[in-house]
Amino acid sequence: MTKRTVFITGGASGIGFGMANAMVQKGHHVIIADINEQAAQEAAAKLAHDSGHHGGSASAVAVDVCNAQQVSALPEVLGKLSVDVLINNAGIQHVSRLEDFPADKWQQLINIMLVGPALLTQAFLPSMRAQNFGRIINVGSIHSVVASPYKSAYVAAKHGLLGFAKTVALETGDCDVTINTLCPAYVKTPLVEQQIAAQAKENNLTEDEVINKIMLEPMPKKQFISLEELADTALFLMSNSARNITGQTMILDGGWTAR
Ligand code: NAD
Repeated sequence: MTKRTVFITGGASGIGFGMANAMVQKGHHVIIADINEQAAQEAAAKLAHDSGHHGGSASAVAVDVCNAQQVSALPEVLGKLSVDVLINNAGIQHVSRLEDFPADKWQQLINIMLVGPALLTQAFLPSMRAQNFGRIINVGSIHSVVASPYKSAYVAAKHGLLGFAKTVALETGDCDVTINTLCPAYVKTPLVEQQIAAQAKENNLTEDEVINKIMLEPMPKKQFISLEELADTALFLMSNSARNITGQTMILDGGWTAR
């Protein structure tokens, strides 16, 4: 296995941290990039501590993925560390019917989950091209392919990622760079715990009812998607065997969209 340098936005928590952990266990170097600098440092320290005997390692960098200046400076900030794999994972949620949705919140969701991935890709694509290897993995969502009420900004941003990935796939056909989007249904992370509470309030339900009647209801398999499933799919996309998989949407939804 070739040791890769993997840059994960939003890597300090939830899915990002879960994928980072799996990559370190497989012997890769992971850069935890997060707006929360302290959480990023702590996450990298934990990964380095738990790295075992597989040769994996971790470091941290503070970045707001919406800040174009901070993002374009990253290759210089990272110095000799050339990013082989970019995982565009940072995200937030806001649950509100459109009439009550604050305009600045709508803009912020689009900035973090659509403009951010474009800025990051722009920053790292030149060196990926130069070394003729790169893997860009967007963390989309089941909401990249279906909608749910009260999530207009999130659904719009996540749908947009698919168009972005298809376009960049066409622009990188001349080198061993691929870009794909992972689309999981619900994963039990801090972001989802917040949504359970918000949806319980919005719909006047208990938290158990939100989980069973709203979140898992459309999924024939009735299970949260695990961090391991996402990490293993990302590891496959990083491999040489996946070099011709690009511009694709990988849906991990327990059968949700089979209906
Ligand atoms: P999380 O809240 O646990 O982690 C998100 C991380 O992103 C946090 O560490 C946060 O500090 C960071 N972040 C937020 N804004 C940032 C910014 N501007 N710049 C840099 N970092 C920033 O969330 P999660 O559930 O792990 O979600 C990660 C991704 O997975 C998101 O894109 C989310 O939309 C997607 N996703 C989550 C689920 C789910 O069920 N949890 C399902 C589908 C898709």
